[in-house]
Amino acid sequence: MSDYTLSEAVREAQRCLHCKMPACRKGCPIANDIPDWIGELAKGNFGNAMKIINTRSNLPAVCGRVCGHERQCEGSCVLGKKGEAIHIGKLERFVADFDWEAGLSHEAIPEKNRGHVAVIGSGPAGLTIAGDLSREGFAVDIYEMEQEPGGVLMFGIPEYRLPKEVVRREIKKIENLGVNIHTNVTVGTDLNVDQLFARGYDAIFMGTGTGRPKSLPIEGIDHPGVFQATDFLRQVNLEHAGLSEEEPAVRPGDRVGVVGCGNSAMDAARTAVRMGASEVTVLYHRTIDRMAALRSEYDDAVAEGVRFIWKASVTKVIGAEGDRLDHVELDVDGEKRVMPLDRLILAVGSAPATRIVSSTTGIEVDEKGYVVTREFPYGMSTRSGVFAGGDVTNRPATVVHAMRDAKLVAEGIARYIDAVKLMDSIK
Ligand SMILES: Cc1cc2nc3c(=O)[nH]c(=O)nc-3n(C[C@H](O)[C@H](O)[C@H](O)COP(=O)(O)OP(=O)(O)OC[C@H]3O[C@@H](n4cnc5c(N)ncnc54)[C@H](O)[C@@H]3O)c2cc1C
Ligand code: SF4
Repeated sequence: MSDYTLSEAVREAQRCLHCKMPACRKGCPIANDIPDWIGELAKGNFGNAMKIINTRSNLPAVCGRVCGHERQCEGSCVLGKKGEAIHIGKLERFVADFDWEAGLSHEAIPEKNRGHVAVIGSGPAGLTIAGDLSREGFAVDIYEMEQEPGGVLMFGIPEYRLPKEVVRREIKKIENLGVNIHTNVTVGTDLNVDQLFARGYDAIFMGTGTGRPKSLPIEGIDHPGVFQATDFLRQVNLEHAGLSEEEPAVRPGDRVGVVGCGNSAMDAARTAVRMGASEVTVLYHRTIDRMAALRSEYDDAVAEGVRFIWKASVTKVIGAEGDRLDHVELDVDGEKRVMPLDRLILAVGSAPATRIVSSTTGIEVDEKGYVVTREFPYGMSTRSGVFAGGDVTNRPATVVHAMRDAKLVAEGIARYIDAVKLMDSIK
């Protein structure tokens, strides 16, 4: 499953200089002990390499595939200044895949005697909290509204970049620590935060992401030929996961426009190509240097035939029969243009849903709906015992930034529960 063979991975690891002040570690948002595990890998100690990675990351097989290494660890590696940086992402992926395939590491189920935590949402933030707190002796239950856990890893990022099998096995490792996952439970609809507390949890974590996609205030936008990138990717991912047989929204021969130029836009455009679209054009209102997508994703999209029009805003959508469009009107750098299109996919950002905060009291959000949290205990909302982290507090970011935030919140939750229990014991 990995790009490297065993000997290639060891040879690549042996190029590492084991810098005294490793810039790669500084470049990693979760401060992975990169030179240490690369050192073990260079000696052929695969199990030890995995153990070191496990101390910082719950999702190495995922990070090895979807992190922006070029902007983080690899972008900081000293070897990259004069030659080729160590391929840290590929090595991390090799270690995680090899460990799984060879069944090397087995973490013992920690004793759960420090308290009970409910985690809402099973994306990178929820999974990280669950893994970290479970290792620290807390009993953790995850409540997930989807039929399978994983959040954006399962239903956003497409199969060709992140196989669902890889997501499932990372989740299995977290379940093996004693974490219980309840799927098909929407907190705010099926039960609310007060009812969760009534079940005896000492703290609740909201890692609910930004599931409410934004739209554009333009004429014709409600036509059925216009849809959200997240809905499109979810539908295709459900099909890959064997959970749906619905006909995909993009059909062979379609001319597709994608509005936006971040992760979702790139994934939607490249997925549309894979569904057989005859033309896929990304329309972005800024210039290439302002796009949120990684340069490597853009290069891959171009190589697959996706066209880009910069400084382009859609000003009007004109529909045809049924769920087809006729064309869209564009403003390209001040010039009016007409573009024939069958489908228009929106990838213009997302915001948190309001279900949880509106079904209880005391959890304050800012004017855009992001949960307000504090520094001490880290990640606690305005309601005692309710914490939040990941995209629902940070705005849409990246997998590893959601993980970084969640690691800090896990420490905040542990401190909070320990303090409450101590106070109770001396009352
Ligand atoms: C299409 C796409 C591609 C991306 N590609 C990359 C990439 O290549 N690299 C990268 O680093 N980042 C990427 N990102 C960004 C990254 O995936 C997110 O930043 C990250 O997933 C945020 O993690 P999270 O746990 O905060 O939220 P999410 O992953 O959104 O998880 C939130 C979870 O909470 C659940 N939930 C929400 N409300 C409730 C409720 N009321 N009750 C129960 N469950 C609930 C949701 O179903 C979901 O499972 C991408 C994002 C998208 C949309
Ligand atoms: S910066 Fe590069 S060479 Fe130095 S320890 Fe990190 S990976 Fe190795």
